[in-house]
Amino acid sequence: MDWLIMHSSLWVPAAVAWEAGKPLVIEEVEVAPPQKMEVRMKILFTSLCHTDIFFWDAKGQNPLFPRIFGHEAGGIVESVGEGVTELAPGDHVLPVFTGECKECVHCKSEVSNMCELLRINTDRGVMIHDGKSRFSINGKPINHFVGTSTFSEYTVVHVGCVVKINPLAPLDKVCILSCGISTGFGATVNVAKPKKGSTVAVFGLGAVGLAAAEGARVSGASRIIGVDLHPDKIQLAKQFGVTEFVNPKDHTKPVQEVIIEMTQGGVDRSIECTGQIDCMISAFECVHDGWGVAVLVGVPSKDALFKTHPMNFLNERTLKGTFFGNYKPRSDIPALVEKYMNKELELEKFITHQVPFSEINKAFDYMLKGESIRCIIHMEH
Ligand SMILES: [Zn+2]
Ligand SMILES: [Zn+2]
Repeated sequence: MDWLIMHSSLWVPAAVAWEAGKPLVIEEVEVAPPQKMEVRMKILFTSLCHTDIFFWDAKGQNPLFPRIFGHEAGGIVESVGEGVTELAPGDHVLPVFTGECKECVHCKSEVSNMCELLRINTDRGVMIHDGKSRFSINGKPINHFVGTSTFSEYTVVHVGCVVKINPLAPLDKVCILSCGISTGFGATVNVAKPKKGSTVAVFGLGAVGLAAAEGARVSGASRIIGVDLHPDKIQLAKQFGVTEFVNPKDHTKPVQEVIIEMTQGGVDRSIECTGQIDCMISAFECVHDGWGVAVLVGVPSKDALFKTHPMNFLNERTLKGTFFGNYKPRSDIPALVEKYMNKELELEKFITHQVPFSEINKAFDYMLKGESIRCIIHMEH
């Protein structure tokens, strides 16, 4: 009973999406105390990712509203529920949309990060423990989003989705490691693993693709070929180590043939970050025979089918796919934060915009117009 006495609801501002595609509304929301294996945290900084936009737009999926979006963030633990021993109030943390229970077959596997219990679930709007939401307005429940719902001054997250990090790390920078940047960077350094001096192609130069390029730069790749339909990405991409740019629109032949010619036989590694099926096939077919590895990161449409001649495999090309950069959130992300602290990974260049929480809808505008890579939303003024 002690838990019930110690913990009470908080009434705080949260940005509620009442309807698909409509601007968020800042509302006073009741945030219930954390239950068994849950953590309530104060969000200090959050950023907007394409996945938020995709589900807010709710085109072609089951709409789930009202809902509090947001999944890239940095904050501080306020209170913990029953059974939480690894975290305490005051800990600096990053919530992550996919978790690590540390007990399932995936968590026990050395190679997998696809936790059975806490793997991303975009259709669930409630907590696992009791199937209820921790957010409400006048008793009416508001749905969670991917277990994080960071567009709220306080949120409740399963302990398995909370990464404890170095308290000296600036949360307004490392918050972007919650999702997109880790996804792209990890796809390169953990999965593609380019050797020093190698050639890498990156398809799609949004935040994830630029992070994949940053991974290639950090790995010492000598040529990084960026592939994108928007020529205005060239200047920006250079900051992330991209040395050459290919716009498929500038060529009559398939982009894989262009890249094979540019590199006398193909790239050593390629990373696909658009989710377009044709790009996925190009990314695979543009790797060098004998040793080339292609890594798929972008999420394809429901009906997409991957078609290539099996000879491409027999000629010793490898095709892989990865999720969240193959990082186990709780075990691996603290070390990635340290990489930033040791200046081995640059985060500032991803952050193009900043807005106060009251202007969160501006962050949506910047991303919808393609102006921003990452916009940091400051919860406090
Ligand atoms: Zn697990
Ligand atoms: Zn994301």
